[in-house]
Amino acid sequence: MTLMKICLQQMLENKRGMDNNPCYNSSRKNTSDSVTELWIENRFIGKIIGKGGVNIRALERETGASVQVTNQLNGNKTLISVIGSTKASNKAIKILVAKTKHSPAPLVPELPPAPVPVIIEPLKKSPPKKDYFDSDECLREEEVYWSQFPEIKKNFYEEHPQVSALTEKSVAQIRFMKSNIVVDRIMGKNDVVKPIAKPLLTFEQAFYNCPEILVKLNKAKFHEPTPIQCQAWPILLSGEDMIGIAQTGSGKTLAFLLPAFIHIEGQMTPNEERRGPAVLIVAPTREMVIQINKEVNKYQYSAITSCCVYGGVDRKKQVAALQENVDIVIATPGKMNDLMNSGDLFIENITYVVLDEADRMLDMGFEAQIRRVLYGIRPTRQTVMMSATWPSGVRRLAASYTKDPVQVYVGSRDLTATHSVKQTCVVCKESEKENLLFDLLDKLSINDKVIVFCGTKGKAVYISVECVMRRLPSASIYGGMEQEDREQAINDITDGTASILIATDVVSSLDIGDVTHVINYDFPKYMDEYVHRIGRTGRAGKTGECESISFFTKDDWANASKLIEILEEASQEVSKNLCELAELYDKLYRKKNEDEVLPKRKPLTFAEFWS
Ligand code: AMP
Repeated sequence: MTLMKICLQQMLENKRGMDNNPCYNSSRKNTSDSVTELWIENRFIGKIIGKGGVNIRALERETGASVQVTNQLNGNKTLISVIGSTKASNKAIKILVAKTKHSPAPLVPELPPAPVPVIIEPLKKSPPKKDYFDSDECLREEEVYWSQFPEIKKNFYEEHPQVSALTEKSVAQIRFMKSNIVVDRIMGKNDVVKPIAKPLLTFEQAFYNCPEILVKLNKAKFHEPTPIQCQAWPILLSGEDMIGIAQTGSGKTLAFLLPAFIHIEGQMTPNEERRGPAVLIVAPTREMVIQINKEVNKYQYSAITSCCVYGGVDRKKQVAALQENVDIVIATPGKMNDLMNSGDLFIENITYVVLDEADRMLDMGFEAQIRRVLYGIRPTRQTVMMSATWPSGVRRLAASYTKDPVQVYVGSRDLTATHSVKQTCVVCKESEKENLLFDLLDKLSINDKVIVFCGTKGKAVYISVECVMRRLPSASIYGGMEQEDREQAINDITDGTASILIATDVVSSLDIGDVTHVINYDFPKYMDEYVHRIGRTGRAGKTGECESISFFTKDDWANASKLIEILEEASQEVSKNLCELAELYDKLYRKKNEDEVLPKRKPLTFAEFWS
């Protein structure tokens, strides 16, 4: 097929998809109207849409064209259709193109996008001088739009006298003792730097004004706040935006959830009069969503309601739950977009937003969906981002969607694995892995609980069958399973019916209690996934018996250096074989100063390199 034919075919497909699935559209269509399609980088889409669609509505009014942001993605681009008379379309296209030209380059170098047809009339004149979306008129319109909504109450914090009495020196000491908490405001644009709330040491210091929460925490029999909670609670109760860099298993869910409860209770509009939820929590996988919902149910008081939405289950039931006007919606990014677009979820009363596991959501390719969701929510909301790592993608998201956030790092800002786990790396051949695994599983003691991570669904199925044949008490979970079976597997491993869980990365962020061993049967492709997996054990400061064992073959050699860094940072033993692999790879393949770019490019496998 010629390139032209491919382009035409793609255009037709795009058109079909667009008609079926528009995200934002207008009803103005004439038979004489022409359709022009543009592929625009995802990073501009949010600005083109505007909060609650305010920019796109203004653009349509200004030009007379209908502008549709479709759900069609190609690489880092989204398809936009402009429908209208030639004059109206040209005017709209000029504004759209000018917008993308005036914007600064992204922080991270991006790979060249996949070749896609761009059907766009040539621009003869120079783009308009004024950047339309940043114009006063546009900003005013946005302000007027949001002013119809009730004021958001954000500050509920009354510092406990014991905390007020802390000197600067004791604040520094507490932060140091509590896993070396580091706080910062590096994204602040203001000259005047607002002080950062002091850390707390006890549950009473945080919630002495909210006995209901203290009762729940007492019931849970926790001794003291975890490091992230010590610092996150005073910040979030003060109504500030926050970026928490903390491992999963650090108690981060309660860190953002308990202030969310107080936020809901403290709003002026009674819950029954509010349309749609007040709090939105976005998490990468259905299992994470379910897990957060369980925490809501466990700690909620005064009838705070929640529901979770994710793909793969009866849509009608989820929509019905939403219509009961719950206080908290916990969603995966894809499903959230779907429900927003279909009009089943009213998001304009959301005043507290959490992006949990932001790094994983970006790795999983959810950036465009997250941006779309956030652009529809009130700009004056309180925003919390949680992430186990701090890569440039997360930094870019934080810069766009948080306001003068306080950054809280627990441990180090770099990619680091939990220090409470013994990490062992076994350099071996692919063909040796199976025997190694079953030797390890045979040696487990009765109280051990293991997660075995496999790289593919096929491998997970194979190992699960082997476990069944060997009568090992195992369960398995991977993508493509029925939701019911996935939940059953989680229940089995959680309640001890099974002591071995064979899994793909769908569970790499889940809180499965008392996991003593994580075995990386297949080493993960990305190092932050390694950190997430290791975080399944040694949770909430537990130490002692927790261990991770990673099988590392020559095909994983591109990750050898990074793994050594992580092992060394956590004072773990580094084998000679691993060092040799790292050296060989660095010498032969990695060019100097390419570290930032390399992870995005698929590295050669050992076999490919020698072929
Ligand atoms: P998360 O990081 O939210 O996945 O939490 C991991 C586990 O830590 C969960 O099982 C929580 O119930 C538990 N947890 C939360 N806060 C505390 C605390 N202050 N002390 C001990 N465990 C906690």
